[in-house]
Amino acid sequence: MRPSCSDGPASGGRPGLEVDSVPANKVHVLGCGAMSCDLTWLLLKPGRTIRPRADRDKPVEWYPCTTHCVLVETPDGMLLWDTSCPRDWETRWVPTGLQEFFPYDQVSDEEYLDSRLGQLGVSPGDIDYLVLSHLHFDHAGNIGLFAGTGARMICNDKEKEFAFGYEGAFNGAHLKADYEAYDFETVSGDVEILPGVTLIEAPGHTPGTMAMKVDLPETGTMIFTSDAVYMGDSYGPPAVPAAIVNDLAAWYSSVEKIRGIAERSDATVVFGHDAAQLRSMRLAPNGFYL
Ligand SMILES: [Zn+2]
Repeated sequence: MRPSCSDGPASGGRPGLEVDSVPANKVHVLGCGAMSCDLTWLLLKPGRTIRPRADRDKPVEWYPCTTHCVLVETPDGMLLWDTSCPRDWETRWVPTGLQEFFPYDQVSDEEYLDSRLGQLGVSPGDIDYLVLSHLHFDHAGNIGLFAGTGARMICNDKEKEFAFGYEGAFNGAHLKADYEAYDFETVSGDVEILPGVTLIEAPGHTPGTMAMKVDLPETGTMIFTSDAVYMGDSYGPPAVPAAIVNDLAAWYSSVEKIRGIAERSDATVVFGHDAAQLRSMRLAPNGFYL
């Protein structure tokens, strides 16, 4: 139900914002457990993962690399942002070796994407738009759930060009088995794909990584960065890069682009793999954001 103007400003809304100008969107954050990994993959930070000599014998820090998807209910359809890791990760990832570096071993049965959707009473056939922030193995792992459902599969044009353009079965964390059987529509630049839902081009992590901005009537704006920004420690300022970066200059510039948009819209910024932040959020199926 969309609030009318006579209801007055929604609680938590931004001052001066016309309530009626914000679509009645609703966001569910689906926590899908965690991979385990050496934190150095995510954060090249002197003193933290890059050690001074006093710490040279300390063990490396392993991190619960949480993974999440976002279900956005809008008056014009239902959008799912990303698909997390697959149940068959331990065999599917073998050609890449990633199962040894990022084992998806901190996940319970109720945390897999298909379970999370089921807990919300949503079946794959209910999804109108399946948007992939990028096509890495831990974001594109469950696209197959939506095969033949009629869901429109969408990614950035530069991501598609890269992901389908290399030789062989995989390239870094892109694994063709995840996505090559499917037809993707592409977007380019920043695109308002549904009222109050904007895909933000944020390359650097991969050639076509995107973030997603969602305007909500009560919460205000939320920005989901995916891997354009892994975690709060990456965001800074100053921004701290990671071990997997396709184009470092582009990555820095995308972080600052997101920061600018976030500041102008007074947004809540939700990072791609921040375990502490995810734990602090209202998570599906018990909580949501209006
Ligand atoms: Zn990634």
